[in-house]
Amino acid sequence: MTTKSTCSYCGVGCGVLVHREKSGQLRVEGDPAHPGSKGMLCSKGMNLHYTVMDQTDRLLYPQMRYSRSMPLERVSWNDALDRAAAVFRSLITKYGPDSVGFYASGQCLTEEYYVINKLVKGFLGTNNVDTNSRLCMSSAVVGYKQALGEDSVPCSYDDIDLADTLLVAGANPAWCHPIIFRRVEARKASFPDFKLIVVDPRRTQTAAMADLHLQIKPGTDSTLYHAIARGLIDRGLIDRDFIENHTEGFAAFDAQVHKRTLKEAAQLCGISPDDLRWTIEYIGRSKGFMSMWAMGLNQSVVGVNKNLSLLNLSLITGQIGRPGAGPLSLTGQPNAMGGRETGGMANLLPAHRDLNNPQHRQEVADFWKVESLSAKPGYAATEMFDALRDGRMKAVWIVTTNPMVSLPNSRAVEEALQNARFVVVQDISGRSDTVAYADLVLPAAMWGEKAGTMTNSERRISYLNKFAEPPGEARPDADIIIDFARRMGFGEAFAYQNVAEIYDEHVRLTKGTRIDISGLSHARLQSEGTFQWPVPTPDSMGTKRLFADSQFYTPSRKAQIKTVPDENGSEPTTPDFPLVLTTGRIRDQWHTMTRTGKVAKLNNHIPKPFLEIHPKDAEERGIAENDPVVVTGRRGERSVDTVRVNAKLTKDIRRGVVFLPMHWGKLLGQTNARANNLTQSLIDPVSKEPDFKFSAVQVARA
Ligand code: SF4
Repeated sequence: MTTKSTCSYCGVGCGVLVHREKSGQLRVEGDPAHPGSKGMLCSKGMNLHYTVMDQTDRLLYPQMRYSRSMPLERVSWNDALDRAAAVFRSLITKYGPDSVGFYASGQCLTEEYYVINKLVKGFLGTNNVDTNSRLCMSSAVVGYKQALGEDSVPCSYDDIDLADTLLVAGANPAWCHPIIFRRVEARKASFPDFKLIVVDPRRTQTAAMADLHLQIKPGTDSTLYHAIARGLIDRGLIDRDFIENHTEGFAAFDAQVHKRTLKEAAQLCGISPDDLRWTIEYIGRSKGFMSMWAMGLNQSVVGVNKNLSLLNLSLITGQIGRPGAGPLSLTGQPNAMGGRETGGMANLLPAHRDLNNPQHRQEVADFWKVESLSAKPGYAATEMFDALRDGRMKAVWIVTTNPMVSLPNSRAVEEALQNARFVVVQDISGRSDTVAYADLVLPAAMWGEKAGTMTNSERRISYLNKFAEPPGEARPDADIIIDFARRMGFGEAFAYQNVAEIYDEHVRLTKGTRIDISGLSHARLQSEGTFQWPVPTPDSMGTKRLFADSQFYTPSRKAQIKTVPDENGSEPTTPDFPLVLTTGRIRDQWHTMTRTGKVAKLNNHIPKPFLEIHPKDAEERGIAENDPVVVTGRRGERSVDTVRVNAKLTKDIRRGVVFLPMHWGKLLGQTNARANNLTQSLIDPVSKEPDFKFSAVQVARA
């Protein structure tokens, strides 16, 4: 038997065919009919079936404890959810609705996001619902909103096949979005004039393929994009008609970028003036200019500014809304976009409505048949843990994510979970470090054990079929939330018979909005395949490219060229902590390894955590290849503030910069390899995205 699904790792969203052999064994292959991935899967996707078949780590039944000094003990679902309801009800009565919150995940299906968001904002009366997408795309979202008027990725993967210049910034798609990168490689092979420019302090696999690698100093991204803009303007390589007719804000931007010469900018960025000039030429002379970026831009205290300064290059050249052109942000998680569509973030309402807009709040309140929604923005991810730490929040319900490994500043996260009165962890795996801090553990169904939808990086919605039964007493996440909602007394509003009814309700809320999917039902997704939103009518085939008419979603219908400062506001280095730590992914692991870490084939690629360091920086510290090293941050010397791994010496990283993979946590026997022991709590003031890519550290031989 063969079932269609979508890979549940990264935002590329590749189509998967799952075969169940007569023996009961599962096997996966790429779905050749999937328009985005065309039958391709990367190493993680090709091994997905092992994560379903190996159930040794699965959480099989609810577990609870009444005191932190007691062990977790098996309980029934009734006891588990009755206690959860009693605790939440009591805390809300005593301390108000803002004393509780939900922290969910870009791994959740759209239907799961929808019911969590509806429960929290519509019925618990707080906006304290945020997700780990905050750690991933929120700076890109704010950038799109400010520049284009809406959280809208303009182009499609198909545009890669038509572009002649691609600038990849702060991303390593060769490892982290491999199937998109296969399309880049194919374009490069078939079109010799294609130019690939990569901006990254590390010479990654992607950078190794580039025609130009701009190995900038961390934090100088906006300086670079301003300099490129200046060069384009000075050489007459901008689209003045487009700027005049379809944008606003060019004059101020023009003045800003002329404050520095190209030579000064090149020096600040640590690149050669010649490379900067070639970049300007490649972009300015191209018929189709695309940009791609990921966490190197987003995960920054100035992440929004970095996004806006990059988007400006598309706007001043008029390279948007046409084939082979435009900005294409690379979503980290498989359904970060679907989550935003349901409004599942602390500052959002369904269908990209704005929590700060009273009319939007009333529309949603009327739809959900409640009197009103709270106008107070909820806590964003890191703020939620700050609130737990200082007592403003008393309880948190964590769904499908592992903040003890993935949030910045692990010590602060640990203190937050220890200080919380009540922690619920709803997850698939006992390998999550966060389970150890739970008062109540709820076993969830994983990929393939439930059905629902996801939206990938190119706005493509796909339906994920169920092909396996959850083990033990594990249940789909939406079922668990709905059951809890009923026990809280909201049964009438959560009387869904199946996930299709949840999806239909979500769809009705999109009607008339810019992400209108009124023409898309579960039935249509199952029979006709995937669609890119908007899909406003039943005969619409979806929308490959936005802004083809150069009419943007701002009030004036013109794109906004935003003038932003180019300074970096990260934690400064000091003589005691002179190195910049940056963190990121490796090819064959996903996030905190709760799934990929149990697949032997994937562990073989890079079996152990490591610190990447330039040979000269290593030599100064008496460190040789594979030596054990201790990395210390500025927050102290407890084990939770240091990392101990072996050194990997490489000239692929800039001097003064070191790199740690983000994946390893305590349960994998690598307590001291947790990269977030060293990251700090700074966040972008607008997007609230953490500054994972710039922490001041020192390295010594252990
Ligand atoms: Fe899965 Fe991403 Fe690999 Fe595609 S590129 S198979 S979505 S991990």
